[in-house]
Amino acid sequence: MNIVEEITKLKKEKNAIILVHNYQRPEIQDIADFLGDSLGLAREAAKTDARIIVFCGVRFMAETAKMLSPKKTVIIPRKDAGCPMADMITTEDLRRLKKNYPDAKVVSYVNTNADVKAESDICCTSANAIEVVRSVKGERIIFTPDKNLAAYCQRFTDKEIIPWNGYCYVHEKIREEEIRLAKKKFPDALILVHPECNPAVIDLADEVLSTGGMINFVKKSNKKKFLIGTEEGLIYRLTKENPGKEFYAAGTAKICRNMKLTTLNDVYFSLKEERYAIELPEGIIKSAGKTLKAML
Ligand code: SF4
Repeated sequence: MNIVEEITKLKKEKNAIILVHNYQRPEIQDIADFLGDSLGLAREAAKTDARIIVFCGVRFMAETAKMLSPKKTVIIPRKDAGCPMADMITTEDLRRLKKNYPDAKVVSYVNTNADVKAESDICCTSANAIEVVRSVKGERIIFTPDKNLAAYCQRFTDKEIIPWNGYCYVHEKIREEEIRLAKKKFPDALILVHPECNPAVIDLADEVLSTGGMINFVKKSNKKKFLIGTEEGLIYRLTKENPGKEFYAAGTAKICRNMKLTTLNDVYFSLKEERYAIELPEGIIKSAGKTLKAML
């Protein structure tokens, strides 16, 4: 039996489901029961009736799954797979900010650690951030941790958005100059970028979309060529699902080293030994779960 067959066998025996983020390695994407962006994965985690959720992504995503399905065993195959952006804000940072703006509501991107979510009013993902900001009652919003997503939302609302100064190091590497060059090289291609990109890159895009948004957009589009401004893992999925269409990285390929940590071996051992289980204090599950449910 090869490793994929072993994983499939263990999955059946243990009544497990494998949730995979769009930025994972191709061979991990290929074993997914559900492949998607943060929002899709959160929804899937909330509704599954499997006993075990194996989460191939980064830690905050597995924590999100645990908050939405606290009775289930949620495991992350690599315990060192964190998100540097999520680590850019602590609860102490957020409490200080709340003191400075006592009338503000707190919208936290799902890319935050559980304790920061617990201090927030509502969560958002890149797919629904504008909608969530609009839905919040109040004219002032503290937005954590991504300054670029905050600036993007600000374009669509008159509310005052106070951003935290965090960013995704992968999307920050996408530079305006390389988008211009890519545009010259492929003049007939559409440029799709993620809202975690900086504002100058967003200004050059044809569409600004979450990874789930890009997948839906490409499927419906009559265009044949696309320049993709996000982590390169998405290009594998886009190419696989859209034969006849061409996808290129907008500039050099950008790789999230944290997303790429998980290997088939890790998934196999995580299922076999049911490791590494996500454990969260009950209080955090309750309050952070509330902010997530407010979003869903
Ligand atoms: S791509 Fe960016 S936001 Fe996503 S896990 Fe990597 S560092 Fe975090």
